[in-house]
Amino acid sequence: MKQNRIFNFNAGPAALPTPVLEEIQKSFLDLAGSGMSVTEISHRSKIFDDIINKAMERVKRLLNLKDNFKVLFIQGGASLQFSMAPMNFLSGDKTADYINTGTWATKAIAQAQSLKKNINIAASSEDKKFSYIPKQFNFSENPAYLHITSNNTIKGTQWNKFPDAGDIPMIADMSSDIMSRVIDTKKFGLIYAGAQKNIGPSGVCLAIIREDMLSQIPDNLPSLLDYSVYAEKKSLYNTPPCFGIYVIGLVLKWLEESIGGVEKMEEINRKKADILYNLIDSGEFYKGTAQKDSRSKMNVTFRLPNEELEQKFIAEALQNDLGGLKGHRTVGGCRASIYNAATIEAVETLASFMKEFERNNG
Ligand SMILES: *Cc1c(COP(=O)(O)O)cnc(C)c1O
Repeated sequence: MKQNRIFNFNAGPAALPTPVLEEIQKSFLDLAGSGMSVTEISHRSKIFDDIINKAMERVKRLLNLKDNFKVLFIQGGASLQFSMAPMNFLSGDKTADYINTGTWATKAIAQAQSLKKNINIAASSEDKKFSYIPKQFNFSENPAYLHITSNNTIKGTQWNKFPDAGDIPMIADMSSDIMSRVIDTKKFGLIYAGAQKNIGPSGVCLAIIREDMLSQIPDNLPSLLDYSVYAEKKSLYNTPPCFGIYVIGLVLKWLEESIGGVEKMEEINRKKADILYNLIDSGEFYKGTAQKDSRSKMNVTFRLPNEELEQKFIAEALQNDLGGLKGHRTVGGCRASIYNAATIEAVETLASFMKEFERNNG
């Protein structure tokens, strides 16, 4: 299967399922008998209409979304959502609650603050280098929403149980764990996810919005920053990121038809994470950086006894066709990102390499 492809543990952009890449390759010069590639056809054509509609339907089916949710495709990455969410849902003197669990949450907070909005930090794990998910919260009176980051890509932590915000709509940045596990979507007013971690290439961000949220949006926003424009125009107000949407459609088809849906995916993801965490916990050589009850099933962050060994580990891993294991530049150490497309075979190969490396260097 592998030939000249490596086992890719990149954090993002990240590995895509091999069958999806093969399908792209196969149909690239001639999409659905059109004699054109997906990057050359009109976004108003019947072929593209089919692609975007099917992708939206798959999102709804896979996440078991009720009809009161709209599926949107937006450019600007997850980072633009850090601004769009407060611009759309935090008007006047209202306050929004944010929970700070790491680098991306910090950025989301900074973007909301730069708009001169009222932000309450309901909890933060900064005191311990964001190595855990907080359990105690200081919610404000009647906030407009509660913003969380469901999986912290850089620090390797994940919400295993979401906070109880009562009737307050939750907004979640699910960039690095969307479609990786079953979630109770009712609680969320808005879910957003840059595609390049778990569902596609960069350049498109999936947003899932509950209809009642749309009525709160102020009427003076620029069209491209207004969720209701995307909802009304079915994400075709202007030229959408066609290629990205096409690939998302293929990834979701793979998830639905080859894997068997999100519940099955969650089981596989649990197995993958267990393989690595069990190995890390089995000795003293590798040390997980996240507290055990907060560990991410998507980004496994760990350290070796010293930085020299970490560099050697990353270099030797690559010689063995295991790529992308360097931790984020701001935290160092090692990180294995094992999103949906990382196979059990890839994770087992990494685990064998880790055992061997420990034997030779421990
Ligand atoms: C990668 C990432 C982002 C940033 O995504 P862009 O598409 O580059 O803007 C935001 N949040 C989380 C949780 C991420 O993992």
